[in-house]
Amino acid sequence: MNKLKNILLTKIKVKYLICFFALSLMHFGAHAGTCNIIGNESGAPVLCGVAKQGGMLFGEVPTVIRVYKGDVLVSYRGIFVVGLAYNTPETISLRFCQRRRCDTFTYNIEQRTFPEQHITVPARFDDFTPEVLARIERERQNVFAARAESINFDATAFMDMELPENLRTKRITAGYGFRRVVNGTPRRRHLGVDFAAPTGTPAKAIADGVITLADYMFFNGKSVYIKHGHGMSSSYMHLHTIDVNVGDVVKRGQVIGTIGNTGRSTGPHLHLGVYWRQSGLDPMLLLQNTRE
Ligand SMILES: [Zn+2]
Repeated sequence: MNKLKNILLTKIKVKYLICFFALSLMHFGAHAGTCNIIGNESGAPVLCGVAKQGGMLFGEVPTVIRVYKGDVLVSYRGIFVVGLAYNTPETISLRFCQRRRCDTFTYNIEQRTFPEQHITVPARFDDFTPEVLARIERERQNVFAARAESINFDATAFMDMELPENLRTKRITAGYGFRRVVNGTPRRRHLGVDFAAPTGTPAKAIADGVITLADYMFFNGKSVYIKHGHGMSSSYMHLHTIDVNVGDVVKRGQVIGTIGNTGRSTGPHLHLGVYWRQSGLDPMLLLQNTRE
């Protein structure tokens, strides 16, 4: 009986700790969404972020606690991030474990509907020689590596992502999650936002980070990839020029190149992507200072 009581008491203590520390993240000044995401079970840690398809959740727990949704990484500070892909189900489960004691808590994720968009591109982007196919595959692997979460890079710049001021008034020609039909054939989702802008308009970093890829790619044109910590990254495609190199440390708002019309593009625009590992998120949900 006493043993059971002890176990119960410890369990309550763990839950109390989780709650306390998850809430304390508010003191860091987390801006990417609000810190009021409540789980469905009592004792569930309160998380920060945006609980919608295309959004992101993050929180802080004592460093002795591990968080599992698949394999979420908890930093030495106890911070963790869970990205929510466009097809995230209505409820997700997170398991919080301290040694062998685990609690599973569920969180509701707002479901969205995404429009369909038909576009026409030149046939050269629809019919590939073996050389081009090999190039596409090589570039796909480079992008995969650029977006991978690095255990030793747990910066928290992702909490302060901001839409650069020169994009705030630009027309959005394609939104996040659009189902694309290219030359009559259904294609992958559009997992970014397109801003129409004249060639030569400065392209700026949405947050502090490190350049992981800067290349002239077949589909994406001249592209730059930046990592911001905890598996969060941003990508800037169809650029006219690239002004940074792999390994460069950049600041939020820093010019990384100029907007253009390279790659599979139908006019000068910036394709801005925000990813958690390999999952495309919705920049307009996560960036500060977007238009209403
Ligand atoms: Zn795009």
